[in-house]
Amino acid sequence: ELVFAREFERVARWAGDRTALTDLGTGLRRTFAGHRDAVARLSGALRDRLDLTPGDRYSALLDNRAVYAELWHAGLCGAGVFTSLNARINRDELRHTLRDAGSSVLFTSAPFAEMVDEVRADLPSLRSVVLVGEGDVPHDLTLDALLDGAEERMPEPPREDDPAMLLYTGGTTGLPRGVVLDQRAVMLNRHRSVEVMAPTRDWTFLQVVPMYHVAALMPLVKVHLAGAGVVVQPRWDPGAALEVIEREEIGALSIVPTMAVQMLEHPDFAPERVASLRFLGYGTAPMPLGLLNRLIDVLPRECRINQSYGMTESCGTVTMLDDDDHRHGDPSLLSSAGRALSGVELSIRDGLGDTLPEGETGEIWLRCGSVLREYRGQPEATAAVLDGGWYHSGDVGRLDDRGYLWVVDRVKDMIVSGGENVYSVEVENAISTLPGVARVAVLGVPHELWGEAVHAVVQLSEGSALTEDDVLAHAAGRLARYKMPRSVELRREELPVSPAGKVLKRQLRVEFDRG
Ligand code: ATP
Repeated sequence: ELVFAREFERVARWAGDRTALTDLGTGLRRTFAGHRDAVARLSGALRDRLDLTPGDRYSALLDNRAVYAELWHAGLCGAGVFTSLNARINRDELRHTLRDAGSSVLFTSAPFAEMVDEVRADLPSLRSVVLVGEGDVPHDLTLDALLDGAEERMPEPPREDDPAMLLYTGGTTGLPRGVVLDQRAVMLNRHRSVEVMAPTRDWTFLQVVPMYHVAALMPLVKVHLAGAGVVVQPRWDPGAALEVIEREEIGALSIVPTMAVQMLEHPDFAPERVASLRFLGYGTAPMPLGLLNRLIDVLPRECRINQSYGMTESCGTVTMLDDDDHRHGDPSLLSSAGRALSGVELSIRDGLGDTLPEGETGEIWLRCGSVLREYRGQPEATAAVLDGGWYHSGDVGRLDDRGYLWVVDRVKDMIVSGGENVYSVEVENAISTLPGVARVAVLGVPHELWGEAVHAVVQLSEGSALTEDDVLAHAAGRLARYKMPRSVELRREELPVSPAGKVLKRQLRVEFDRG
């Protein structure tokens, strides 16, 4: 059976005294055997002291810290259904998510405790709020008190089709929905992506992606089960990350595109500082071409570069663009999301659900045995995206005759201007190659004649003196006329982005309507 618990026990035995986890915030360091015992103690405490049963949900609202790995692994081992919450959640989203999940226990820390207290009256199922770390803030008990003297007790190993976690989607396009994923989904995803990712025990993996996200939770399975150590950086800070990579001789790192921009633009950046890297994974959002080319230039030759494409609903990665494709392939592949991992079927469909021929653009559907079981408590929303094992991704893309996938946009971000489809990502890619552009977001804005017009919001790099005309002239050489922005807005300040590095276009649209 494809379940996490057995492999977790196995790695604790063969890699027992190696370092599994280092927390740069708290200074905690755990071996594989020590981590296994910590998970057993937490599982025992959840059951004996908080009456949690395997089907009950328990949540974490925390910044990155090593205890996240304990909470996550305890859930995977069968202590309960783990639900991780976006650490930038606001009060209404918190109320919505905890109610929707029906969580019995919440682990949180001082910065969030007041907000939790404000919504608590609306959360009848929430029995216990456990405070992680210090703070004079409302809570029921501390993590230390919960674990003090608790018996180490590994839960009964779950079955393959038992729910393994409940994750809330990024909310990039609307209110977060609760995605129920089972043990099989987690382990299938792990097995198929390690083929390309190939983590080895000599890696030290730096965990900087916000840990609530599937793009952080899944590496914590793959890297851990490979017997490699994870170093947790508490808060994302590009300067600190550069320092840690250099000091700890970090071998592997996963990032989201915004983190790549911030590291490359950091005044202390120098290629020597990242010379220890042997693996760099990126994904969660389109990586602008200009940025990707810069990354390839500055990373050591021995560093394998790897792109993942996937979503919460598929338990993460379903396609990968490997190192060979980045460094030796046909250069046009750099804007592709790579090929399907083994066991993943991709299909491009039109609006009626009919299969489109190779090369044509439509909605990406996928079938892989690791897609969501349901959106929790939402049978209609579930039926709208699941059909005969196929998941309708809401992304627009095309496949070529070699099986490479191009993710061209999200259905919701596509612009229809004068009856022509304009893919916002294509326009973003064209503009991103202009030096002086730090980030760009392209959206459709209402237009009397064309329905929607292409509007580009450009965030300038530090010290850049680009003008709107420079941007237009650069784009004109790269885009068909109908795809050209009709308006360009230059900004010095950061564009709004989600913790997973996605520009929040719905927020920009609101700003545009107000303007
Ligand atoms: P919501 O569904 O609530 O709007 P979200 O889509 O951000 O939020 P996630 O599951 O975190 O939720 O993101 C999955 C989406 O991210 C994919 O459907 C795709 O649009 C985008 N994405 C992920 N990886 C890549 C990639 N490598 N290239 C382009 N886009 C990507």
